[in-house]
Amino acid sequence: MLGVLIGTDLVPLGSGGIVVQLLPDAVNDDASSPHWRTVSQRCRPLVRCLPLNSAPEEIAAQVFAGLDLSMIDKMDVAFNCECSKERFERALITLGRQELEQFARAAEPLETICHFCSKRYFFNVGHLEQLLRELGNPRE
Ligand SMILES: [Zn+2]
Repeated sequence: MLGVLIGTDLVPLGSGGIVVQLLPDAVNDDASSPHWRTVSQRCRPLVRCLPLNSAPEEIAAQVFAGLDLSMIDKMDVAFNCECSKERFERALITLGRQELEQFARAAEPLETICHFCSKRYFFNVGHLEQLLRELGNPRE
């Protein structure tokens, strides 16, 4: 469950999410148990009214209130994108010779943008020509 808290001026004030899942060795009956349904139902409204900067322990205490809860591990999470200029190079090469030649003729640097992290990578004409050389000559 994901949620975004929007202020009265329509500016996002915060966002967060909760992932609750059965452990891998849970049996099918666990998914239909009343406890599991209760926990699932508690997640929905909780996402809409999560206080900003709520501690994970507080959120878990609300979701699992009245149930036997024990924390077995805790770890920080962070957004990390694995994109790189080299990955974009490989993606450009998969477009093929014709597309790369078009980009190289444009005489302006080619701008690529990662859709996950919005990082921008630029490829100048010389770089595009180098990629074309790496593709080899199709007439050879
Ligand atoms: Zn990225």
